[in-house]
Amino acid sequence: MTSTGSTRAEIVVDLGAIRHNVRRLRELVGPGVAMMTVVKADGYGHGMVEAARAARQGGADWLGVATLDEALDLRAAGDTGPVLCWLAVPGEDYALAVAAGIDVTAYTVEELDEIAACGPSARVQLKVDTGLSRGGAVRADWDDVFGHAARLEQAGRLDVTGIWSHFVASDEPDHPANDAQEAAFREAVALAEKMGMRPELRHLANSAAAVLRPSARFNLVRCGIASYGLDPAPGHTPDLGLVPAMTLRARLAMSKPISAGDGVSYGHTWVADRDTTVGLVPAGYADGIPRAASNIATVWSAGRLRPIRGRVCMDQFVIDLDGDLPPAGTEVVLFGPGDRGEPTAQDWADALDTITYEIVTRVGGRLVTTHV
Ligand code: PLP
Repeated sequence: MTSTGSTRAEIVVDLGAIRHNVRRLRELVGPGVAMMTVVKADGYGHGMVEAARAARQGGADWLGVATLDEALDLRAAGDTGPVLCWLAVPGEDYALAVAAGIDVTAYTVEELDEIAACGPSARVQLKVDTGLSRGGAVRADWDDVFGHAARLEQAGRLDVTGIWSHFVASDEPDHPANDAQEAAFREAVALAEKMGMRPELRHLANSAAAVLRPSARFNLVRCGIASYGLDPAPGHTPDLGLVPAMTLRARLAMSKPISAGDGVSYGHTWVADRDTTVGLVPAGYADGIPRAASNIATVWSAGRLRPIRGRVCMDQFVIDLDGDLPPAGTEVVLFGPGDRGEPTAQDWADALDTITYEIVTRVGGRLVTTHV
């Protein structure tokens, strides 16, 4: 996005925070457990390439992405380390991935054949469905898929580098699916070994499980949200000293008085109950500010929390300044680490009845991102 230099609204990403968080997570899981930092979806909105670089500096052994394009973008940006991608569609150009030394994920016999056709250097990780009913080979297919992978490996047509699965509810430590999935995963690993494969990597844990469930760490953990300093299991996570990396801020376009009885923004869903002052924040749902924040979320400006009044529009929204008239250009922090009293992404997620993942990945659009 071209910037004229007048920062209407911007995402500020503290790369030092990402380095710190990855380091903290590494310390927590200890030696013998490799750290994969998940940088899909533009590094959870933080900028994939910059977040990846910071993660490597913080000690990430692996980077994880959803799509092959994301993995290739990492290579194009100069990352030469281990990368796993896990979401392919039929006809995917595995040859590019194989040539780039990217580990790809397979769930089916057909995928294994497509990957093997790309050359003996193909690195593949088998994904098993242990209960999420998303991607992965279901238990009834394990024999077929594992048997096929083992034969291809023995024939020197690919290298099975890992076996993995994904939790249903690791952010709810008492959820019964957790135990069942871990047990199923152990069975899958044992079966793969029985069939002659020795996948070097065995992994199941995302951030919440990496933090809360040591038995599920195996020899690699895949940490996304915690790497960005956000709480992976609100209400359950001990204080790990993680630092939120993203601040979303804007500058007031104007402030002005309004009178009791004046309606604000489309549909007049908020009507002033007193004479007050309002400020215009020049960012809206086209920039990823959820429209659901209308009349619900708060921001911080001129030393105080300020409620959003009326509907969030495409490019702008209005805040209640409660009699103050800060000049145009005054900083407005929508969310940040919280150390100045501003709301956090967690506060926004709680207010909007969603998760921080959605808050941070959806901001963007026309916004400029500044990495510091
Ligand atoms: N592993 C896989 C397969 C994922 O899809 C994700 C993210 O959704 C992660 C790991 C990281 O999860 P989290 O951000 O909860 O650490």
